[in-house]
Amino acid sequence: MDTSIRTLFRYRELRKTTINTYGLVYHWQGSNPDLKPLLLTAHQDVVPVEPLTVDTWLYPPFSGTWDGKWIWGRGSCDDKPGLIGSLTAIEKLLEKGFKPQRTIVLAFGIDEERGGIVGGTGIRDYLLSAYGPNAFALLIDEGGTLEAHSDGVIATPAVAEKGHFDLRMSISTPGGHSSVPPEHTSIGILAALIAELEANPFTPHLYRNEPYFTALQCQALVDPEMDDELRDLIGKARYSDKALADLEERLFRNPLSRALAGTTQATDIVHGGVKTNALPENAFAIVNHRIAGHSSVSTVKTHIAAVLLPIVKKFNLSLDAFGESLNGELSQKTSGHLKLSDAWGTALEPAPVTPWLKNPAYDLLAGTILNVVKTSARWNNPDIPVIVAPGTMTGNTDTRYYWNLTQNIFRYGHVSRFDKYNGAHTVNEAILADAFIDLIRFFTIVILNADESKIL
Ligand SMILES: [Zn+2]
Repeated sequence: MDTSIRTLFRYRELRKTTINTYGLVYHWQGSNPDLKPLLLTAHQDVVPVEPLTVDTWLYPPFSGTWDGKWIWGRGSCDDKPGLIGSLTAIEKLLEKGFKPQRTIVLAFGIDEERGGIVGGTGIRDYLLSAYGPNAFALLIDEGGTLEAHSDGVIATPAVAEKGHFDLRMSISTPGGHSSVPPEHTSIGILAALIAELEANPFTPHLYRNEPYFTALQCQALVDPEMDDELRDLIGKARYSDKALADLEERLFRNPLSRALAGTTQATDIVHGGVKTNALPENAFAIVNHRIAGHSSVSTVKTHIAAVLLPIVKKFNLSLDAFGESLNGELSQKTSGHLKLSDAWGTALEPAPVTPWLKNPAYDLLAGTILNVVKTSARWNNPDIPVIVAPGTMTGNTDTRYYWNLTQNIFRYGHVSRFDKYNGAHTVNEAILADAFIDLIRFFTIVILNADESKIL
């Protein structure tokens, strides 16, 4: 039998459902219907390759070249590992004649890189109607990584995902000829509003019950690069409020720590004006926010309105803040109007946090990661210390739509940043083939462990 026919034969053992044409859901029926299915998700789409950068790729970006060490191509780091890794694990299990007790479901989105608005929502609706709410034992999607140090390995499956809010600030003022201008044009006022937001960022905080704090405790145990003073501070912060405040002061000099512990803001788009002899009647800016787990969309909106109100008054503007007029009665004619709104109507609350203490699903995942590292040919060291710590995603994945499918959502790819040649979403995207093999082992072992587990 030639390979293609054999593959087709194996493929038929799974039931395929297409969602919105290209979205894929595969169902592999288990023999025990009492066990909640395992759900593995990934996305098929990739970001584009900027045509001007094609010449700077060492291998053509859609060639999938394996040079003996690296596998090159757009998507090799995001999210072909999750897609091809899980499918290869399934292929191998089929080839070995494995018959699952626990049903396995694979779901592959098509537009994660633009927010999953067709694929993610379609897959959610299908899975909810076909399986019901909270029907899955656990879900694994892309996200958290593993870090290898000389003294051990620390893996951080993400149990939390920050929220998202894009603020649109639209300002309108009377137009006219530039030869007799007012003191401030709409663009000048917009600049003042942006400057005020940047002068009043959200204050990040460490909370002892949040995953980032636990992750710091774990990191202090295994990271040899951490200096002893910081290690000491992290330990003391468990019970001393003074140490917690000192730790915040020290950590928040680093933008990544601030992003993990707090709500961030970034002015990413600004638009206004068409000609140098015409006053701009309209100008707008869009400010991206990633919302911390302890915050919410409404807290962010309230903060923005409060920060901007003095500027609104200073420039004598009328204000529509998310549908509400907040600056009271204006006694005189206003010099313009400011509208604050959700730029694309895509505000997203922070995801519910997957429990990591006394949660069998977390224990199963953590045990799997330990096993995969300790049996890996890459380290060849069954005694290597491995720590699994709860991680936080600063970005979003298709799991934003999957909250009602299971309480046990984990965002994790068993790959470290050193296994990526140049990272995702850029030129020369490549993954180390040995790391990819370990990722396939991860998927295989998590399927086998979930199949045998009595704890889920
Ligand atoms: Zn991705």
